[in-house]
Amino acid sequence: MFTPERFFDMVGFPSRPMILSWLFPRRKFPFRFVYSKDYWMLPVGKHVFPVRKYRLLHERLLAMGAGRDNFRQPSPASDEDVLRVHTARYVKKLKTGTLSGLEQQVLELPFSPALVHFAWLSVGGTILTAELALSEGVAVHLGGGFHHAFPDHGEGFCVLNDVAVALEKMRHQGKIRKAMVVDCDLHQGNGTASILAGKPYAFTFSIHQMDIYPAAKPPSSLDIGLWTGDGDESYLAQLRSHFPKLYEQFQPDLVFYLAGADPYQEDQLGGLRLTKEGLRERDRIVLEEARRLGIPVAVVLAGGYAPDPEDVVSIHLNTIRAAQKARRLSPGIRPAAPSV
Ligand SMILES: [Zn+2]
Repeated sequence: MFTPERFFDMVGFPSRPMILSWLFPRRKFPFRFVYSKDYWMLPVGKHVFPVRKYRLLHERLLAMGAGRDNFRQPSPASDEDVLRVHTARYVKKLKTGTLSGLEQQVLELPFSPALVHFAWLSVGGTILTAELALSEGVAVHLGGGFHHAFPDHGEGFCVLNDVAVALEKMRHQGKIRKAMVVDCDLHQGNGTASILAGKPYAFTFSIHQMDIYPAAKPPSSLDIGLWTGDGDESYLAQLRSHFPKLYEQFQPDLVFYLAGADPYQEDQLGGLRLTKEGLRERDRIVLEEARRLGIPVAVVLAGGYAPDPEDVVSIHLNTIRAAQKARRLSPGIRPAAPSV
């Protein structure tokens, strides 16, 4: 018997998936991801820093239904933007490959021109993520979060401080009046704390493990120190006692969320005992409370060093799901106060 379905099968167009996509247009990801394949092509050898996670995440998101239009490719940041945070001397050393042996050692990554490209591109990625977050409520950088970079040197896998540069640029352009950095990576955000110290337009929050790197922890606006063995309960109790209160008090026009996967119980670099469930709740609190108040959120990935990269990827995907839900629950954006 001839049916419309048989007709479509015969002519092969439009296909069933196409018709379904017309009838039920996919709006699975109501925001953009910023991603470049150059992120995972960084040659680091057998290093604990898992650049592979960037590619795996991109692939997983495509499989979950993200379309081409969900991804935006970053350009390297301009030197003008980088120099708002980093010293001219340090930038020159990076560009000419003249870091001292000690400076390369504290970076803990093999120095190469590719690393310099990666650093500038990652900063460009977080700038683009901040711009997208301001226009769409939420944006996720499948990279970034290099919070151990100081104005005059890099440390602990971090060459340039992408979040600080993006924050300064948004403010310089008058797109925001003030911003908050919510740093939930396992490690204290020493570089960010140091760069933004004493700047009334920036509030830095860091919740981290005390008895690991960095040994010296320059004060953030608010530091929450936890210890080896602390788990979901104490972590989440701390978070709940400060959010949404901090958002309500400081009223940022933009939040940078460093959603590190390294507080996870299997992580090789830390001793906090957070479960994946605990990390999901962390994401929910940070993201939903900000969105509920209409504050745009730029998410960056930061660290994650579980032996199985699948664990790291699944934790980052959970953050993305939490961002999706937070955006869906509260799509509106509170207008930024006029710049002063
Ligand atoms: Zn970390």
